Amino acid sequence: MSTEALRIVWIYPDLLSTYGDRGNLLILAARAAARGIPVETYEVRSDQRMPNAADIYLIGGGEDGPQALAAQRLLADGGLHQAIHQGASVLSICAGYQLLGHSFFAKGVKCAGLGLLDIFSDRGETRAVGELRGEIDPRLGLPPLTGFENHGGRTHLGEHAAPLARVTAGIGNDGQTEGAWAGKILGTYSHGPALARNPAIADLLLKWSTGADRLAPLDDTWSERLRGERFAAAIPA
Ligand code: GLN
Repeated sequence: MSTEALRIVWIYPDLLSTYGDRGNLLILAARAAARGIPVETYEVRSDQRMPNAADIYLIGGGEDGPQALAAQRLLADGGLHQAIHQGASVLSICAGYQLLGHSFFAKGVKCAGLGLLDIFSDRGETRAVGELRGEIDPRLGLPPLTGFENHGGRTHLGEHAAPLARVTAGIGNDGQTEGAWAGKILGTYSHGPALARNPAIADLLLKWSTGADRLAPLDDTWSERLRGERFAAAIPA
């Protein structure tokens, strides 16, 4: 891995890529390159060692079986833990979000998580499926979150994690809050290529990992159009 470039790792595309999660890698790389930031991207499969020297790690959504396997392999590997202790940023989505916590349920069985976010997930009575919208924690300085959710689990936050957003449509963690953040780790139930609908989150990750206070604005006409369309489709909570 080069030390000159911004290094972005997509964790386990063979297990956690149910909803086009590669989009987040493409969007981050494109938004960095558009600002003249050299980028290297890595797709690390579950039979490979997890590098600990990257700047941003992306972990996506998945079904219960692959989710449980991914958690076991990441726990055994330890590379992601090292990277986070060294200051890496993380975007985690749905199954990837749940498995960063202390525990989660897969196929009715309680599984150990990575303990990197102070959250745990249990089973909901219903599956949460549909448009998700929320007002993001003002400390992050971001516009409202928009996404699509599809999960059976419900997530509860401990005192060392803050909600990413307050739900205004959909379910998120529990119908009240959505996602979590702590340090430079973000977790959300907004599915798959969440950064296509939330490019400001991509820029936050780029700022965290480059130390830049601000980034040159980009033409976000298409994502603004998509955001407007999806906000109109979201049914208020
Ligand atoms: N298996 C998890 C759940 O149903 C995560 C699902 C997902 O990533 N869509 O809660």
